[in-house]
Amino acid sequence: MTKTIKVKDVYIGGNHPISIQSMCNTKTHDIPATIDQIQELTAAGCEIIRVAVPDQAAANALSQIIPAVEIPVVADIHFDYRLALSAIENGVHKLRLNPGNISNTQNVTAVVKKAQNYSIPIRIGINSGSIEKNLLKQYGVSATAMVLSAKNHIDLLESLDFTDICVSLKASNVPLSIAAYELFSKQYNYPLHLGITEAGTLYNGTVKSAIGIGALLSRGIGNTIRVSLSDDPIQEIKCAKAILQSLNLRKFGVEIISCPTCGRTQFDLIKLVHKVEAYTQNFSADLKVAVMGCIVNGPGEAREADIGIAGGNGSGIIFKKGQIIRKVPEDELFTTFCKEFQSLL
Ligand code: SF4
Repeated sequence: MTKTIKVKDVYIGGNHPISIQSMCNTKTHDIPATIDQIQELTAAGCEIIRVAVPDQAAANALSQIIPAVEIPVVADIHFDYRLALSAIENGVHKLRLNPGNISNTQNVTAVVKKAQNYSIPIRIGINSGSIEKNLLKQYGVSATAMVLSAKNHIDLLESLDFTDICVSLKASNVPLSIAAYELFSKQYNYPLHLGITEAGTLYNGTVKSAIGIGALLSRGIGNTIRVSLSDDPIQEIKCAKAILQSLNLRKFGVEIISCPTCGRTQFDLIKLVHKVEAYTQNFSADLKVAVMGCIVNGPGEAREADIGIAGGNGSGIIFKKGQIIRKVPEDELFTTFCKEFQSLL
């Protein structure tokens, strides 16, 4: 089991639930826009938010952003130790920073001591695209190079008695990322932040993230996740929730199962399933809902669903745990389903 770190009121590691993170794509110095986006993401289910801190204006903005939002805020800092010091002073709850990238030991020590005094954990974020030259020369872009790169940063922090650490080993190549996280987890018990970096647009990025993050989580590796998509960050939260729910690691309300349709389907199932999904996502009940394409096979195939709906030629049925309870004309199917669904709440 990994060590646990605390980020404001969210625990990462040990037996704590796998938390969901995202990153703002607003300019951090645009305070109202950043607060709005964090609030939207929080409402969607984001539990930890990261913001870029590329300059002093962004570091200063944190002092107004942090008190205005509920969830922990992580400052993403690349090289400038002064920005890290300001971010901590301005109330940030965690730093994402690779200490080896800060130019001199005195400056690293200043950041680490301040993080220690404020109980601020540091995430070491290894990215396959920015491995140190000497490691690349010896090991190429590989899991070994990524883990050794993490080791350099960890050694530096540990030499200063700092162990409030979380690590990520991201690559856009899924097998490489999986191998790096696996290798790391055999050697260290620091909690892991999982992600497939530069995963791409909504469709491909979702697939790559689900495979990479899902493979690791299913092997018991990973403590917090961030899905990276070239899209609205709200989509990252939806994807993260679906990954966690698919692996039975977290429950986020109603689960929809639906058949892929086939030659037996005699109505517009795809339209209906979208309607049912939009309706049921307003409820947080732990229920499984099935939307099936035919009356003959639907109830049996979706026996494990708490409630289901199946359409036919001009009429449809509502079933519960595989048993038909109502038969109704097609135009009443959705409203009847809604009533029956509500009776289960
Ligand atoms: S439930 Fe009916 S329509 Fe859907 S895939 Fe199965 S047999 Fe085909």
